[in-house]
Amino acid sequence: MDYLKEMEGKRLHDHFDDKMSNSVKRVWVPGPVIVGAGPSGLASAACLKQKGVPTLILERANCIASLWQQKTYDRLRLHLPKQFCELPLMHFPPNFPNFPTYPSKQQFIAYLEAYAQSFNLEPVFNKTVVSANFDNGCGFWRVRAQGLKMEETEYVCQWLVVATGENAEEVVPEIEGMSEFVGQIVHTSSYKTGESFCGKKVLVVGCGNSGMEVCLDLCNYNAIPSLVVRDSVHVLPQEMLGRSTFGLSMCLLKWFPMRLVDRFLLLLSRLMIGDTARLGLTRPKLGPLELKSSSGKTPVLDIGTLQKIKTGNIKVCHGIKRLTHHSVELIDGREENFDAIILATGYKSNVPIWLKENNFFSEKDGFPRKPFPHGWKGENGLYAVGFTKRGLLGTSMDARRIAEDVEQQWNAKPTDLKPLLMDFRKET
Ligand SMILES: Cc1cc2nc3c(=O)[nH]c(=O)nc-3n(C[C@H](O)[C@H](O)[C@H](O)COP(=O)(O)OP(=O)(O)OC[C@H]3O[C@@H](n4cnc5c(N)ncnc54)[C@H](O)[C@@H]3O)c2cc1C
Repeated sequence: MDYLKEMEGKRLHDHFDDKMSNSVKRVWVPGPVIVGAGPSGLASAACLKQKGVPTLILERANCIASLWQQKTYDRLRLHLPKQFCELPLMHFPPNFPNFPTYPSKQQFIAYLEAYAQSFNLEPVFNKTVVSANFDNGCGFWRVRAQGLKMEETEYVCQWLVVATGENAEEVVPEIEGMSEFVGQIVHTSSYKTGESFCGKKVLVVGCGNSGMEVCLDLCNYNAIPSLVVRDSVHVLPQEMLGRSTFGLSMCLLKWFPMRLVDRFLLLLSRLMIGDTARLGLTRPKLGPLELKSSSGKTPVLDIGTLQKIKTGNIKVCHGIKRLTHHSVELIDGREENFDAIILATGYKSNVPIWLKENNFFSEKDGFPRKPFPHGWKGENGLYAVGFTKRGLLGTSMDARRIAEDVEQQWNAKPTDLKPLLMDFRKET
């Protein structure tokens, strides 16, 4: 049996190919197919590999961690301390002088490259998964992916791991008059630095971590940013009492109820950064941790933007009514000229576009229907990793669970593939 598995493993990158009548190539994959080579896909593949289960990773981009490599701004650092952002089985280099508490984007990417190399993970790049459905007839998943020349391949597998992320597609709001506006309109996924905005009036729409940080970056490049804050938002200092706010919260939650911890965080914030409502940033009714846990809305960890708002370098406004040729009409009736608009309006999951399944995943938001910690396992060998709204910490938990679960099946129910392959041949 071990011999059979070994042969199957070898065949993974040396696939058994079969031509279907409509020229779609068909490939049998003995282990799980993982969709996405971001941190979640890599973590799952590494954990499975450690348990002796081979995987095939399909990635639409031409590199691993494409969100980090291609869609983030230059000054980005991890928002959370490194110990909360490590993937399973490999630490950040300990005591390495270039690895600070909050690694830079380049350091994080280097860590992920080393991670993939150390576990010998070789995703298949430039493969966009366009559909995946469970075939009740044969009891396997059929995963269709498109290559750069639009050529299609169908991967047939017993386990499907969805690792396409909470941030797969940009959210671009419809704003009246958008097509008339002559200035540049970009999403933060295309923003790299404020260099090209020097001396320009820029409107940043959205006040999450990205929107706040882009404003700060624009200030540092002598641009003149305004920030559109439509909803209430919790802004907390990144560090409190000499510890990261996140680390402190995690520690307090071990001993005290969430509401009490929230009160404590808000009291400390008030003492450290004052009343944010006076700056136009009103706080939600629920505390920061309760809100995160109930809606997934992440508090903003301030790294200097508040000071720029206080000094008037960043103006806060409360919503856009419409855009015209050169200017923006705000909901308070004011009209101002802007040279550019940056949309820090976030991302969404793309699962409903390609996964033909809606028992486990919601077709509404593309997240598992069951809340954390139950949203990692569906039916028929379907798994989700990285949809916990808990960042890389959630990814690690999911990846470990998935590997343990698949390992049991892999060891308990080895499949003799030969008859199945014969069936597939007959079918095509
Ligand atoms: C600016 C920014 C800063 C962040 N900072 C932190 C932080 O400090 N700490 C933290 O824990 N989290 C942070 N996050 C959240 C972060 O997104 C995740 O922690 C991490 O990137 C999630 O990894 P993932 O693999 O689940 O998703 P992603 O990194 O988004 O990877 C998903 C991969 O799937 C691929 N893919 C998508 N659709 C398809 C398809 N149909 N076919 C094939 N491939 C596909 C994508 O190309 C991508 O490479 C940050 C996010 C952003 C945007």
